[in-house]
Amino acid sequence: MNQEQELPRRRKKRKKKKVVTERAYVHEACGEATLVDGNDFEGLVNPFAIALKTYCVHCRGMVSLKSVAWADTGEPLSQYRKRMLKRIPLFWQYWRNGLGAVIVGLITAVIAVVMRPDDGAVFFVIGFVTGAVLSPMLLPAGLIPKYLGIDFRNIR
Ligand SMILES: [Zn+2]
Repeated sequence: MNQEQELPRRRKKRKKKKVVTERAYVHEACGEATLVDGNDFEGLVNPFAIALKTYCVHCRGMVSLKSVAWADTGEPLSQYRKRMLKRIPLFWQYWRNGLGAVIVGLITAVIAVVMRPDDGAVFFVIGFVTGAVLSPMLLPAGLIPKYLGIDFRNIR
Protein backbone atom coordinates (compact mmCIF):
# COMPACT_ATOMS: atom_id res chain seq x y z
CA MET A 1 0.00 0.00 0.00
CA ASN A 2 2.89 2.34 0.50
CA GLN A 3 4.79 2.01 -2.69
CA GLU A 4 4.78 5.76 -2.86
CA GLN A 5 6.89 6.03 0.25
CA GLU A 6 9.58 3.93 -1.36
CA LEU A 7 9.57 6.22 -4.34
CA PRO A 8 9.71 9.70 -2.85
CA ARG A 9 10.71 11.35 -6.10
CA ARG A 10 7.76 10.01 -7.97
CA ARG A 11 5.45 11.01 -5.17
CA LYS A 12 6.72 14.58 -5.12
CA LYS A 13 6.24 14.90 -8.83
CA ARG A 14 2.70 13.68 -8.67
CA LYS A 15 1.85 15.87 -5.70
CA LYS A 16 2.68 19.02 -7.59
CA LYS A 17 0.68 18.07 -10.61
CA LYS A 18 -2.44 16.64 -9.15
CA VAL A 19 -4.53 17.28 -6.09
CA VAL A 20 -6.22 14.28 -4.53
CA THR A 21 -9.92 14.96 -4.89
CA GLU A 22 -11.49 11.87 -3.37
CA ARG A 23 -10.73 9.07 -0.97
CA ALA A 24 -12.56 6.06 0.36
CA TYR A 25 -13.04 4.99 3.94
CA VAL A 26 -14.34 1.71 5.28
CA HIS A 27 -16.88 1.50 8.08
CA GLU A 28 -15.76 -1.08 10.60
CA ALA A 29 -19.24 -2.29 11.52
CA CYS A 30 -20.46 -3.10 8.00
CA GLY A 31 -17.12 -3.46 6.20
CA GLU A 32 -18.33 -1.31 3.33
CA ALA A 33 -16.50 1.57 1.68
CA THR A 34 -17.77 5.11 1.20
CA LEU A 35 -16.15 7.43 -1.32
CA VAL A 36 -15.87 11.03 -0.16
CA ASP A 37 -15.09 14.04 -2.34
CA GLY A 38 -15.65 17.77 -2.67
CA ASN A 39 -16.39 19.85 0.41
CA ASP A 40 -17.09 16.76 2.49
CA PHE A 41 -13.61 15.45 1.75
CA GLU A 42 -11.97 18.80 2.47
CA GLY A 43 -13.77 19.11 5.78
CA LEU A 44 -12.98 15.57 6.79
CA VAL A 45 -9.22 15.87 6.29
CA ASN A 46 -8.94 19.42 7.64
CA PRO A 47 -8.40 19.30 11.42
CA PHE A 48 -9.67 22.91 11.67
CA ALA A 49 -13.08 21.86 10.40
CA ILE A 50 -15.46 20.43 12.95
CA ALA A 51 -16.12 16.80 12.10
CA LEU A 52 -17.48 14.57 14.80
CA LYS A 53 -19.18 12.08 12.52
CA THR A 54 -19.25 11.07 8.90
CA TYR A 55 -21.64 9.32 6.59
CA CYS A 56 -21.65 5.62 5.75
CA VAL A 57 -23.36 5.06 2.40
CA HIS A 58 -24.05 1.42 3.20
CA CYS A 59 -25.60 2.06 6.65
CA ARG A 60 -27.25 5.26 5.40
CA GLY A 61 -26.36 7.09 8.55
CA MET A 62 -23.79 9.09 10.46
CA VAL A 63 -21.05 7.08 12.12
CA SER A 64 -18.19 8.10 14.41
CA LEU A 65 -14.76 8.91 12.99
CA LYS A 66 -13.32 6.16 15.20
CA SER A 67 -15.43 3.57 13.39
CA VAL A 68 -14.16 4.41 9.90
CA ALA A 69 -10.66 3.92 8.47
CA TRP A 70 -9.10 4.99 5.19
CA ALA A 71 -9.41 2.17 2.68
CA ASP A 72 -5.86 2.68 1.37
CA THR A 73 -3.93 2.97 4.64
CA GLY A 74 -6.26 1.44 7.23
CA GLU A 75 -5.80 4.40 9.55
CA PRO A 76 -8.92 5.41 11.52
CA LEU A 77 -10.08 8.89 10.57
CA SER A 78 -10.06 10.03 14.19
CA GLN A 79 -6.35 9.20 14.39
CA TYR A 80 -5.65 10.70 11.00
CA ARG A 81 -7.14 14.05 12.04
CA LYS A 82 -5.03 14.11 15.22
CA ARG A 83 -1.93 13.35 13.17
CA MET A 84 -2.76 16.16 10.72
CA LEU A 85 -3.15 18.59 13.61
CA LYS A 86 0.33 17.69 14.85
CA ARG A 87 1.82 18.56 11.46
CA ILE A 88 0.94 22.22 11.71
CA PRO A 89 2.83 24.92 13.67
CA LEU A 90 2.15 24.91 17.42
CA PHE A 91 0.46 28.33 17.37
CA TRP A 92 -2.17 27.00 14.97
CA GLN A 93 -2.63 23.87 17.06
CA TYR A 94 -3.49 26.16 19.99
CA TRP A 95 -5.64 28.21 17.66
CA ARG A 96 -7.55 25.09 16.73
CA ASN A 97 -7.96 24.13 20.39
CA GLY A 98 -9.54 27.39 21.60
CA LEU A 99 -7.04 30.20 21.19
CA GLY A 100 -8.71 31.20 17.92
CA ALA A 101 -12.09 31.63 19.64
CA VAL A 102 -10.45 33.79 22.34
CA ILE A 103 -8.64 36.00 19.82
CA VAL A 104 -11.69 36.47 17.59
CA GLY A 105 -13.74 37.14 20.75
CA LEU A 106 -11.33 39.83 21.89
CA ILE A 107 -11.46 41.53 18.49
CA THR A 108 -15.26 41.62 18.43
CA ALA A 109 -15.24 42.75 22.10
CA VAL A 110 -13.09 45.76 21.21
CA ILE A 111 -15.34 46.58 18.25
CA ALA A 112 -18.42 46.34 20.51
CA VAL A 113 -16.85 48.67 23.11
CA VAL A 114 -15.88 51.21 20.44
CA MET A 115 -19.45 51.18 19.14
CA ARG A 116 -21.01 51.46 22.60
CA PRO A 117 -18.44 53.12 24.88
CA ASP A 118 -21.10 54.18 27.44
CA ASP A 119 -21.83 50.58 28.37
CA GLY A 120 -18.28 49.42 27.72
CA ALA A 121 -18.13 46.58 30.24
CA VAL A 122 -21.42 45.04 29.17
CA PHE A 123 -20.62 45.34 25.48
CA PHE A 124 -17.15 43.94 26.01
CA VAL A 125 -18.71 40.75 27.41
CA ILE A 126 -21.40 40.62 24.71
CA GLY A 127 -18.81 41.23 21.99
CA PHE A 128 -16.45 38.62 23.38
CA VAL A 129 -19.05 35.87 23.72
CA THR A 130 -20.51 36.60 20.29
CA GLY A 131 -17.10 36.58 18.61
CA ALA A 132 -15.95 33.43 20.39
CA VAL A 133 -19.13 31.52 19.57
CA LEU A 134 -19.22 32.71 15.96
CA SER A 135 -15.47 32.36 15.36
CA PRO A 136 -15.83 29.23 13.17
CA MET A 137 -18.14 31.25 10.92
CA LEU A 138 -16.12 34.47 11.03
CA LEU A 139 -12.98 32.56 10.11
CA PRO A 140 -13.95 29.52 8.02
CA ALA A 141 -11.88 26.40 8.69
CA GLY A 142 -10.85 26.11 5.06
CA LEU A 143 -8.95 29.41 5.15
CA ILE A 144 -6.31 28.37 7.66
CA PRO A 145 -4.76 25.47 5.69
CA LYS A 146 -4.75 27.71 2.63
CA TYR A 147 -2.94 30.38 4.62
CA LEU A 148 -0.46 27.77 5.87
CA GLY A 149 -0.05 26.36 2.37
CA ILE A 150 -1.13 22.89 3.45
CA ASP A 151 -3.56 20.80 1.46
CA PHE A 152 -4.54 17.99 3.78
CA ARG A 153 -6.20 16.16 0.89
CA ASN A 154 -2.77 15.29 -0.44
CA ILE A 155 -1.45 13.91 2.85
CA ARG A 156 -1.98 10.24 3.49
ZN1 LIG B 1 -21.59 1.19 7.54
